[in-house]
Amino acid sequence: MKHQFDVIIVGAGLAGLRAAIELGEDTNVAVLSKVFATRSHSGAAQGGIGAALGNEEEDNWEWHMFDTVKGSDYLGDQDAIEILARDAPRTIYELEHLGVPFNRTPEGKIAQRAFGGHTRNFGEAPVKRACFAADRTGRVILDTLWEKCLQRGIRIFDEFQLMSLLVSEGQCHGVIAYELATGQLHTLHSKAVLLATGGYGKVYKTTSNAFASTGDGLAIAFRAGAPLEDMEFVQFHPTGIYKLGILISEAARGEGGVLRNNEGKRFMELYAPVIKDLAPRDMVSRCILEEVRAGRGIDGKDYVHLDLTHLGEEVLNTKLAEITGFARTYSGVEPIKEPIPVQPTCHYMMGGIATDADGKVITDSEGTPFPGLYAAGECACVSVHGANRLGCNSLLDILVFGRRAGKEMRRYIHTVGLSPLPANPEKEVADKISALMESNGNEKGGPIREELQEVMMDKVSVFRQRSGLIEALEKVRELKGRYQKIAIQDMGSCFNRDLLDAIELDYMLEHVGSG
Ligand SMILES: Cc1cc2nc3c(=O)[nH]c(=O)nc-3n(C[C@H](O)[C@H](O)[C@H](O)COP(=O)(O)OP(=O)(O)OC[C@H]3O[C@@H](n4cnc5c(N)ncnc54)[C@H](O)[C@@H]3O)c2cc1C
Repeated sequence: MKHQFDVIIVGAGLAGLRAAIELGEDTNVAVLSKVFATRSHSGAAQGGIGAALGNEEEDNWEWHMFDTVKGSDYLGDQDAIEILARDAPRTIYELEHLGVPFNRTPEGKIAQRAFGGHTRNFGEAPVKRACFAADRTGRVILDTLWEKCLQRGIRIFDEFQLMSLLVSEGQCHGVIAYELATGQLHTLHSKAVLLATGGYGKVYKTTSNAFASTGDGLAIAFRAGAPLEDMEFVQFHPTGIYKLGILISEAARGEGGVLRNNEGKRFMELYAPVIKDLAPRDMVSRCILEEVRAGRGIDGKDYVHLDLTHLGEEVLNTKLAEITGFARTYSGVEPIKEPIPVQPTCHYMMGGIATDADGKVITDSEGTPFPGLYAAGECACVSVHGANRLGCNSLLDILVFGRRAGKEMRRYIHTVGLSPLPANPEKEVADKISALMESNGNEKGGPIREELQEVMMDKVSVFRQRSGLIEALEKVRELKGRYQKIAIQDMGSCFNRDLLDAIELDYMLEHVGSG
């Protein structure tokens, strides 16, 4: 089936929806999402979105910029970081005007709380910079933007999975997508395509990420000739629920929670005497693992305690209701009375498809664009986070740069015509699906995926060594070889997860191997 639009946006998280809203007024735009739009991982964001509003105490964008540059280990693009920090207050007021129900101060201003790595006066002390809606910040922003898209009549193709990009003569002019409910292929023809497909934490065994975070956009762009940047920079969040990786937001420490080792000691005081438990995530994750290595993990195991007991029932049940619920359900502890067992969990990908500050995918260090192809959000690398993202800077990044990508595409589509479609645009994808369905190989996708997740966790996580990385690369190559022999059991065409899991596994092996 064929469709025609000016712009196709792949991904209905905040990056994709914000870009769609920018275009929606006067452009024929469609959004594609492999999950129902409001189930995108953006909806799981808990703690907040950073902006130097100065509502609770003095703050300004230069301090925000400084913290972001420093937090990135001085490896972020400082011009892009300036755009991020300067545009942050406008972004928050825009959300407020769209109807996002932020928490309020007693005088009715948008409330703010402390978050890791955010300081006043260039590192002097923590500052309250995170705007939030309890611990459901992503949820309320996603729902608000989604409603706005519906109101503007933007076409959303829910449960449509991107399979490949249409590229001819170096120009991207559409996508091939698979409809989950029917197994049918669709050709979506357009002048421009925005990839907003999110991160790929699912390559690790322990992760805070959603099942859909498999990095499809990165692998598909890479195969179409777009370079990936900073793929070695993977963030581990210090406080995932022990063994499960489900996130306990940094907001817990922003509200005053502390980490303790098996002696009950607040160990971050030793490693970061000024900002203590609110040090940047890379540092806190390393400190937890150093405590564990020194034998100070709880019961000699590889986790520590996050103590919220002193915050009181009211704070826990109002400002941190979601995460205290997670602790009760998944760890079986009552956070009002007991500490929560936590360990670092794979959380965020700083690297991704290389772009400039207007979302244009770039193909070399000169900034040569890939005509018609754009990327924004976690799948893109602008790069504002360098080697380590500060908490609350991702929601900001995806909204600031999602909007800018929308603006740039709106300009671009008036400068080009619609390239003609090839004779049989779906053939390559259809052949690939048939090959998988007809394979009588002796491998299954599940075990290959588990082995990939395990080797990534063991050898490519917080601490890495050359020998471990070489071993991991060899393992990924072996798994890629075995992948060639996988067979599908489900022969159906309605929600065939067996087939789609196999396709996603192929992407995971591709971008992990590209790093
Ligand atoms: C548990 C958790 C808590 C977080 N808390 C915070 C926080 O408090 N503050 C903060 O700043 N950041 C936070 N983050 C990070 C932030 O939420 C994410 O980086 C951000 O939401 C990513 O948004 P996105 O729009 O790029 O992609 P996502 O929201 O991940 O959406 C990806 C979209 O792409 C679609 N997609 C993917 N592949 C395909 C395909 N092949 N075909 C079709 N569609 C596809 C998906 O269906 C989805 O719609 C958190 C992250 C997690 C996991």
